[in-house]
Amino acid sequence: MATTASNGSTGAPAARAGRSYDVAVLGLGAMGGAAARHLAARGLRVLGLERFGPAHDRGSSHGGSRIIRQSYFEHPDYVPLLLRSYELWEALERDSGADLMTLTGALMLGRPDSRTVAGSRESARRWGLPHEILEPADIRRRFPTFAPRADEVALYEERGGFVRPEAAVAAHLDLARRDGADLRFGEPALDWAVLPGGDGVRVTTAAGRYTAERLVVCPGAWAPEVLAGLGVPLTVERQVQYWFHPRTGTAPFAAERHPVYVWEDAAGVQIYGFPAYEGPEDGVKAAFFRKGVACTPDTLERRVAPEEVEAMAAHLRDRLPDLPGRFLRAATCMYTTTPDEHFVIAVHPEHPQVTVACGFSGHGFKFTPVVGEILADLATAGATAHPIGLFDPRPRRVRPTQHEVTT
Ligand SMILES: Cc1cc2nc3c(=O)[nH]c(=O)nc-3n(C[C@H](O)[C@H](O)[C@H](O)COP(=O)(O)OP(=O)(O)OC[C@H]3O[C@@H](n4cnc5c(N)ncnc54)[C@H](O)[C@@H]3O)c2cc1C
Repeated sequence: MATTASNGSTGAPAARAGRSYDVAVLGLGAMGGAAARHLAARGLRVLGLERFGPAHDRGSSHGGSRIIRQSYFEHPDYVPLLLRSYELWEALERDSGADLMTLTGALMLGRPDSRTVAGSRESARRWGLPHEILEPADIRRRFPTFAPRADEVALYEERGGFVRPEAAVAAHLDLARRDGADLRFGEPALDWAVLPGGDGVRVTTAAGRYTAERLVVCPGAWAPEVLAGLGVPLTVERQVQYWFHPRTGTAPFAAERHPVYVWEDAAGVQIYGFPAYEGPEDGVKAAFFRKGVACTPDTLERRVAPEEVEAMAAHLRDRLPDLPGRFLRAATCMYTTTPDEHFVIAVHPEHPQVTVACGFSGHGFKFTPVVGEILADLATAGATAHPIGLFDPRPRRVRPTQHEVTT
């Protein structure tokens, strides 16, 4: 896809007569849907373009549940965004009437010096977040499905839990539409370009060409293609979510008594999981956090091999011995990962008319509503009061080598 300023014809059908927008949003998954909602709520004329249908299962925002937590081991700078995100999740529930968020408590387990435990502790300390540090005996007593090793501890925070991704994406889209956004599904953008003289943008689809003052690009796993000119190296990874029926039945895993968790082993491998949240037959979901194989949206292998299921079950057997009873199902999903695993959220370094959000590196969903708010700020004012220095693409850009330029 062409992603730079262009002044030639693309040979696509003529522009839709009379349609011009304040902001076009490319990609209506988690982040694009939230951006469309916040922009429409501010009274802007919004166009949204989405390759598939609303809240689909072909990108990164499906599978029933996403962990939310505040004592963030990835970096303390995420915490103020998380606090705002929680406020906005509650507002989204109120405005949409949808049940989106369940707070179950969250356990971050591992050795005291593991990234998961030490990093969570550092964020909690830095921001004064309520938390407890639990020794192995405390963990077993309070959460009997967990079998920690003698050298493992946990940080427990009451404000952890999960959100429902499909319902959350749908809620943002419904509210955007209610506020007048023109959302077009099954209509992939083939090209975007800044208009000659920098006077707005043009987006081309098979159905026509649209113009807008500003463009917000949220393409998820399609970012390497749609945002090739950004210069940040992005890796798309296949990830698998697994559901098991526990040997004991789901009662000990019920959301009223069972927290979400991230558990790091001595080798640094992290798994994460959820309580049973959909009734006894839906089982309990668990996954490896980062054990993905590189892919593209076109080459993603959706079949999950028996050996993969067995590897997950073996890892769980050691830690939550009752969980890997009967295997129920698995579903693939994609991460779009940056080298430092921090997001990219910024005004495009070369095009002030264009705002970008990508590279959520497998931990973006909990931020969805605050990302929508930030994108609306950047698209309308070129700046935001939210702290987003960590997400600046400029220091992370890689210039093409001579070889790449000439071949
Ligand atoms: C298995 C798995 C587990 C996860 N667990 C967690 C978790 O527990 N907690 C957490 O916070 N995060 C988690 N994440 C990460 C989180 O889900 C993602 O960071 C987030 O969903 C990314 O949202 P997005 O809007 O960038 O991508 P998407 O929601 O995939 O949206 C991108 C959209 O752009 C559309 N698009 C692309 N190109 C075009 C085009 N040319 N024209 C029109 N439309 C286009 C796509 O169709 C898609 O709808 C997980 C991710 C996975 C895969």
